[in-house]
Amino acid sequence: VTPTPQLEIVPLGGLGEFGMNCMVYRFGDDAIVVDAGMMFPGAEHLGVDVVLPDLSYLTSVGRLHGVLLTHGHEDHIGALPHLLSTHDVPVWATPYTLALIRKRLEEHPDAPAPALRTLPEGRESLSLGPFRIETIPVVHSIPQTRMLVIATPLGVIVHTADFKLDPTPPDGDTTDLDRLAEVGRRGVLALLSDSTNAEVPGFTAGEASLRAGFDALIASARRRIVVTTFASHVSRINQIGRLCAKHRRRVALVGRSVERHAEVAEELGLLRVPSRIPPEQVMELPPEQVLVIASGSQGEPMSSMTRIALDTHRDVALEPGDLVVHSARVIPGSAQSVGRLINHALRRGAEVVTAERGAPIHVSGHPAREELKLLIRLLRPRFFVPVHGEYRQLWAHAALARDCGLERDAVVLAESGDVIGVRERSISIVDRVHVGHVFIDATLDQVDWEILRERRRIAWDGIVVPVVRVDRQKGVVDGSLEILARGFVPDVGADRELLDEARRAVERLLANASPEERSDEALLKARVQAELKRLFRRHTQRRPLVLPVIVEL
Ligand SMILES: [Zn+2]
Ligand SMILES: [Zn+2]
Repeated sequence: VTPTPQLEIVPLGGLGEFGMNCMVYRFGDDAIVVDAGMMFPGAEHLGVDVVLPDLSYLTSVGRLHGVLLTHGHEDHIGALPHLLSTHDVPVWATPYTLALIRKRLEEHPDAPAPALRTLPEGRESLSLGPFRIETIPVVHSIPQTRMLVIATPLGVIVHTADFKLDPTPPDGDTTDLDRLAEVGRRGVLALLSDSTNAEVPGFTAGEASLRAGFDALIASARRRIVVTTFASHVSRINQIGRLCAKHRRRVALVGRSVERHAEVAEELGLLRVPSRIPPEQVMELPPEQVLVIASGSQGEPMSSMTRIALDTHRDVALEPGDLVVHSARVIPGSAQSVGRLINHALRRGAEVVTAERGAPIHVSGHPAREELKLLIRLLRPRFFVPVHGEYRQLWAHAALARDCGLERDAVVLAESGDVIGVRERSISIVDRVHVGHVFIDATLDQVDWEILRERRRIAWDGIVVPVVRVDRQKGVVDGSLEILARGFVPDVGADRELLDEARRAVERLLANASPEERSDEALLKARVQAELKRLFRRHTQRRPLVLPVIVEL
C-alpha cells in the first residue's frame, strides 16, 4: 500500500521569533523556499551584526527548485546571499525586490551570480515541480509586495507574506480583494498568515490617513524639518514629497539606505519627489524651505539620523527650533537607541514629534485583528498556520482563527524547526528538523557560538589572566607569578585580597607539580585554570573567563 502523499511545510525561521523568515514547502522529492530573511541581533549577541537562519536542512530536501521572495524587507531577503553560497538555484521576485537583491549581491562578489527572474503577475503562473505559483498584489510598507498562492497536488496553500488590506493606498498596489475572494471560492487547503499585529484590535489605518498629520506639521513648522522613517517606505516618502511641493519646501534624501532605496525606486518609476536637492545644499537654503528625510529610524549608531542628532553629520545640522519627526515604530530591541536619538535631538534644541506619543505620523504595514479575520473569511481555509511573529502573536492569531470558526485541530501553532505535515484531511506537526542561528560580524565572517559564549562570560563575569613564568630548561617556575583581572574583582590595593589568595593557590599548585609537569604547557594551563575556576566559584559564585598565559624564560 502506498501511503497517502503528504505536503511538508517547514519554517527555518520566523515562527516564534521576530525576523529571519524562511519557509520550505516540500512534496516528495521536490521543494521550494519562500523568503530567506535575517534577524537583527539583540543585546546578548555581543559584537554580532547580523543573525541568519541555519539552512543546513536544505541539503536534505531533494530537488530544490528555487527561492521565491515575497518582498524586499531584510527579514525576508537578508539571508539570500548566505543561501545562494551553498545552493545554486534561481530566485523569483518582483522587479523592485530584484533590484534590491542585485545591489546586495554586488556586496558579495565571490558568491556565484544566481538566475534572477520576475514573479508571475495577474493570471500568469509559474510551475516548479509539483508546485504552481500565482501572486496577488498586497499593500505593505515597501513597494511591490506579493502574496503567494501555491497550488500543490493536495490543494492550494496561501502564503500571505507581510500585508495589510488598506483599500485606499496613496500610490503603489492595492490589495486585490477580488482575487482573494476568488481564490477562496476555488478552495484553500491551508492559509499561512502574518501574525505581527495579531494582538492589535481593529483595522490598521491606511497610509493615506497620514496626509493630514504631515500636512499640519509641515504647515506649522517655522524652520527646518528632519523626518526619519524606514528607508524602504517609498510610498511615505512620495507622500511627504508631494506635501513639500505644496508647502514650497525642497526635499533632501540623506543616508545610504534611503539613497539606495530611492535609486531603485526612481529607476522603476516608483518614486516621484518633485523638488529634490542634494544633501550638500541643505544648509545653504533658508531653514523654512527644507525638509530632510534621513535614514536611521531605529537609532542605528552609524546612521545619518544619529549623526545629525549628535551634530556630527557632514551635510546636515540641527539648530534650535528645528523639527525632528520620528515616523516609524520602534522595533523590539531598539527602544534604547531610539531613546538616545531623541535625547540628542532635544539637546540640539530641536522639537521632537514621535508616533509613539500619538502623533498621526505613522501607521503599521501589517494587518490588525479585524483585517486578519476578514482574510480568513474571504479565503475560508481548511487549515490555518499563524506565521511571522513571536510566540505570543502566533498564539493570539491561532485563537483568532478558532474564533472565525476553524476547528481546534485545524489550527497548528508551530515554531521554527517544526515539520508541519499536511494531508487532504489533516494537519499536524509530524517531525522536527535542525534549525538555529548563524552569527555574522562586520567583517562578514561567521562568529561561532563558542565565541559568543566567551564574549558573554567576559561581559558578565569578567576575565582573569594568570601569568606564569617557566624556565623550560630547568623545569622551574620563576617567583614573580602575576594575576591580572578585568571586569571581575579589583586588582589593585587592599581590594586585591581574592587575587592574592588566587596567586597563593597557583603557587602551591606549581610547587607540588613535578618538573616534568611544569614543562608541559598544555597540562600546566589546564591545571591552573581548573584551580582558579574552583576558587572563584567558591568565593564569588561567578565564572570569569580564566585564560592562563605561560611565559617561557
Ligand atoms: Zn515586510
Ligand atoms: Zn516581515
